Amino acid sequence: SIVKKKYPVLCQAAHSIGSVQIRNMATIGGNLCNAAPSADMAPALIALEAECKVQGAKGKRTISLEDFFAGPGETVLKKGEILTEIIVPKLAGKCFGVYIKHGLRKAMDIAIAGVCVLVTKERGKLKDVKITLGAVAPTPIRAKNAERILLDGDLSEDSVTEAAEEAAKACFPISDVRSSEWYRREIVKVLVRRGLRECLEKV
Ligand SMILES: Cc1cc2nc3c(=O)[nH]c(=O)nc-3n(C[C@H](O)[C@H](O)[C@H](O)COP(=O)(O)OP(=O)(O)OC[C@H]3O[C@@H](n4cnc5c(N)ncnc54)[C@H](O)[C@@H]3O)c2cc1C
Repeated sequence: SIVKKKYPVLCQAAHSIGSVQIRNMATIGGNLCNAAPSADMAPALIALEAECKVQGAKGKRTISLEDFFAGPGETVLKKGEILTEIIVPKLAGKCFGVYIKHGLRKAMDIAIAGVCVLVTKERGKLKDVKITLGAVAPTPIRAKNAERILLDGDLSEDSVTEAAEEAAKACFPISDVRSSEWYRREIVKVLVRRGLRECLEKV
């Protein structure tokens, strides 16, 4: 209930995974260490600036989740290291986030694209925007240029559209059984626009 209250976007992301049976068995650590580009927990946790505590025979270290993934199925964990904790910082200001998973089915489906948008306001002014993408590159990624458009500009519909187009440029998708590369870029534009509109309205 703490996670639900403080970080509802994490609940939303977790709820999109597999089925009740999978969610009961799977761990968030396993979801991250598995390092699938489509891992549903990754975009929301990267947007929340989560850090990974890692333990190995030679000691502990902390890695930003943004730097945790090295490629499809690969993390920066060294031989013998395990992920022991995921630290999610306290949110400052008023925050609203959404995770939008796009797939062919409503359950038991791997994302064609997963988009997380997190908007923070302080004293009525935009303080931060995070746009993170899953399943559209070899690792989950942040669309930093898209974030900058909103942080440096205004929050008009034109800026939202421009940011969505910039987010699509950050993708390096593949064509596979689920989707073509072209479709993944197009759907990222749609989902980022949708996510930004919802966050800006509700924050
Ligand atoms: C039917 C099905 C549907 C699925 N649907 C989805 C979905 O919709 N969205 C999605 O994102 N994923 C989905 N998955 C993948 C699933 O989320 C992940 O496999 C799950 O979260 C992994 O958690 P786990 O605890 O079972 O990890 P495991 O499968 O036990 O581990 C995965 C990998 O990570 C390593 N590992 C696990 N924990 C640690 C740790 N603490 N430190 C270091 N290495 C570790 C393991 O050695 C292994 O290599 C699905 C899987 C199945 C079978």
